[in-house]
Amino acid sequence: MESHSYDVTVIGAGPGGYVAAIRAAQEGKSVAIVERDALGGVCLNWGCIPTKALLKSAEHYSFLAHAAEWGFEIGEVAVDWKKVIARSRKTAKKLSGGIGFLMKKNNITVHKGSARYLSANRIEVTDAEGETTELQTTNSIIATGARPGTLPGVEIDNERVITSREAMVLPERPDSLMIIGAGAIGVEFAYFYAAFGCKVTLVEYLDAILPSSDEDISAVLEKSFNSQGIDIHTGARVLSVEPDGDSVTTTYEKEGESTSVKTDAVLVAVGVKGNTEGLELEKIGLELENGFVPVDGHCETAARGVYAIGDVNGPPALAHVASHEGIHALRHMKNQNIAPIDYSLVPSCVYCQPQVASMGLSEAEAKERELEYDCGKFPFSASGKAVAIGETDGFVKILSCRESGELLGAHIIGAEATELITELVLGKSAELAVRDIHMAMHAHPTLSEAVMEAAADAAGEATHI
Ligand code: NAD
Repeated sequence: MESHSYDVTVIGAGPGGYVAAIRAAQEGKSVAIVERDALGGVCLNWGCIPTKALLKSAEHYSFLAHAAEWGFEIGEVAVDWKKVIARSRKTAKKLSGGIGFLMKKNNITVHKGSARYLSANRIEVTDAEGETTELQTTNSIIATGARPGTLPGVEIDNERVITSREAMVLPERPDSLMIIGAGAIGVEFAYFYAAFGCKVTLVEYLDAILPSSDEDISAVLEKSFNSQGIDIHTGARVLSVEPDGDSVTTTYEKEGESTSVKTDAVLVAVGVKGNTEGLELEKIGLELENGFVPVDGHCETAARGVYAIGDVNGPPALAHVASHEGIHALRHMKNQNIAPIDYSLVPSCVYCQPQVASMGLSEAEAKERELEYDCGKFPFSASGKAVAIGETDGFVKILSCRESGELLGAHIIGAEATELITELVLGKSAELAVRDIHMAMHAHPTLSEAVMEAAADAAGEATHI
């Protein structure tokens, strides 16, 4: 068996793993990355990037449908579904190729195959031909990600009962689609398919769509989705999903009453489970918790020197969290005394229309913790830029500590929400007070003025409402 020796071995080349590998190489370490599939992981190949390409197609299509309002007479617009899908796949392929380039540039050795631990310092890689290679390593980082979960009794057949992966490449647009779960995946696909004229039903077990968001956000999104023709049922428990020839019947129960809906397909979007099979983590004394690898505040596992980052260590399953954790793990290998990761600084973004972005505490959480807080809110309907570009739905909402002005939470729904949140994440991470945000000059006319005005409102100083 071939054998190699490295300072750091990373298992999984998603946004957690490949970023950690690059960072380690930049620090002068000898680095290997093990990947059995395409470089870039779910994010680049089957998640963040290809879905953003699809969502942009949906936005363009919606724009074309309303072109007359903008002064364009273009008649009926035909959709070439296969091209919509092909563009998304091309985007994913291009970026995955870019990761290959970055691995070469940084002298990172890519071992294609599946990894398993022999001990904390020895990893065996088996390639597609069954050939094995042993990697001896000082440190390792498990960055194997996660895959879609399902519901008990619901079998994914990849054709009519599908996950996000199949939903990205359906050969034809279904006429009707049932989506189970109104988290990020559920609402992004609900927007996408509804925009292309598919009849979408969205069923969510909890009492709101995007239930982990601030409740004002969920309410505005639900109203907007209703106006987009999406049929929403919250507080509804799915009882069964039964494929039958060309259709699938989903039965759910709400307030004691059961309802059956027949659709062309069912998308199950009820969360993810960690990819740990085959790693033989028991060999290094690790036991899973709720299907994920438990870690401390530095992403180090109970096996010292072995780190687990990204989706495989549990929620939040977000690409930027994975990258951040990878970089943090590298810092921690060098210095065990650094502060743990601050998860109150995680931005959470959803790219449906209207977009949603948030950070920190929701208002319900602030109340639950009995915090004394101020709440500033600014609607996009009062923003000159939003009116000019015809994007007046939504608002910016900022929660700040009444005594210190510390930013506690920020919640945005509307145009470019996913870009606007960064100012507030930076503000919080630099420990700025809400006053610092609204005292900073914001260019006019921009959507970011809505952030400034919401911050001013928290201090009772908003000028445009
Ligand atoms: P999620 O956990 O965000 O949402 C799943 C939803 O399904 C929850 O609201 C849950 O209450 C609901 N649910 C669970 N069981 C149900 C049942 N029996 N009937 C009805 N509803 C049920 O998971 P997801 O949307 O599948 O996304 C997976 C992960 O990927 C998440 O961590 C998500 O944040 C991440 N992701 C992020 C983005 C983004 O940042 N834009 C996009 C896609 C996915």
